[in-house]
Amino acid sequence: MSAPIPRGAPETPSRPDDRPPLDPAVLRGEFPLLAANPDFAYLDSAATTQKPGAVLDALDRFYRESNANVHRGLYPLAEKATAAYEGARGEVARFLGALAREVVWTRGTTESINLVAQSWGRASLGPGDAVLLTGMEHHAGLVPWQILAAERGFELRFLPFDARGELELERLEALFEDGRVRLVGVVHGSNVLGTINPVERIAAFAHERGALVLVDAAQTVPHRRVDVRSLGADFLAFSGHKAYGPTGIGVLWAREALLETMPPWQGGGDMILSVRLEKSTWNELPYKFEAGTPDIAGAVGLAAALRWLDSLGRDRIAEAERSLTAYAVGRLAAVEGLRLLGEPDERGPLAAFDLEGVHPHDVAQFLGKEGLAVRSGHHCAQPVHRELGLAASARASFAVHTTRDEIDRLAEALVRCRRYFS
Ligand code: PLP
Repeated sequence: MSAPIPRGAPETPSRPDDRPPLDPAVLRGEFPLLAANPDFAYLDSAATTQKPGAVLDALDRFYRESNANVHRGLYPLAEKATAAYEGARGEVARFLGALAREVVWTRGTTESINLVAQSWGRASLGPGDAVLLTGMEHHAGLVPWQILAAERGFELRFLPFDARGELELERLEALFEDGRVRLVGVVHGSNVLGTINPVERIAAFAHERGALVLVDAAQTVPHRRVDVRSLGADFLAFSGHKAYGPTGIGVLWAREALLETMPPWQGGGDMILSVRLEKSTWNELPYKFEAGTPDIAGAVGLAAALRWLDSLGRDRIAEAERSLTAYAVGRLAAVEGLRLLGEPDERGPLAAFDLEGVHPHDVAQFLGKEGLAVRSGHHCAQPVHRELGLAASARASFAVHTTRDEIDRLAEALVRCRRYFS
């Protein structure tokens, strides 16, 4: 039998935070890698975040003091490991305003979306159905549905975005008109355009027409308050490593009633109640979706990261990053020959850009030599780049430790970069 799961609070409390604004220069000191390299500007947090000491300590402590397999042993160390692992699940639930039995551990956003496609999608979709995705999905939000659509014969539809990088919501009516859309897959924060999409509005629209909503929250959970109930989501995915946690751990949240109806997607140990040679029965939620030994330390590390975020205050984080991002957008827009990709009303902490006459890989290499780490390529969003008439772009992305001084260095280096390559 599995250990009882602590239940998370159904709502994330939202209290005004009257502490002084966060100071990124001070927070930088909490990241051992950054503290050891004072001149290094890490501007690639949208790809993966650096890890604060609190997370590294939690991982180290788990392996030193609590390491055993979970849900199996009856000796005290195994019980301690199980309590740490299930306690971490409860913390994720609280963080999202969910119930612990609605939190399924995965390897990350990609695996979470594949789980929805292979479990709910395979059981529910067929010819005559449609899945509506947006034109700004990360490949993780697209390809699992392409694979399943080819097998099950349903249609994929797309909600486009406009020149500013905003979804064209006025097209929703026509896309839903024939009543075939069963699921909407929408990225909460675009990893290229920066757009924060109005998920609440889309979810209300979809629900009125009987469709479910899957939210890719990979780029928002680390940066703002994300409450699954107020978003109106049915499924929500995020990755631990983009939220200051370890790689290899992530979360699929889904409404309990939905998870109950969904079949397992992987078979093996721990996801079963009983096994006979020919046939098995399934474990209760959420274990039905967690076959095999999980990433126990990863779960513990992710919970430490979420605690750390909460100790800073999620509204303070959002405010500090909003102000830093506005500053960065202003500085970058003033660089001659630089075109920002997207001018959304509400932007997450990132800015992708094209520097006239310079290949994005050359931009990233030039900046890299100056101690500035930015990403270049299609950022796993090729359709977005195709829509913008580009093969690739460069992207600077920010975190709680990003300083205005680093943004100034970035803007000044980009001016030199363009001069160097022209
Ligand atoms: N969705 C978005 C918006 C992302 O930015 C990313 C990663 O870049 C993913 C999904 C995939 O996340 P992971 O590789 O952690 O599964």
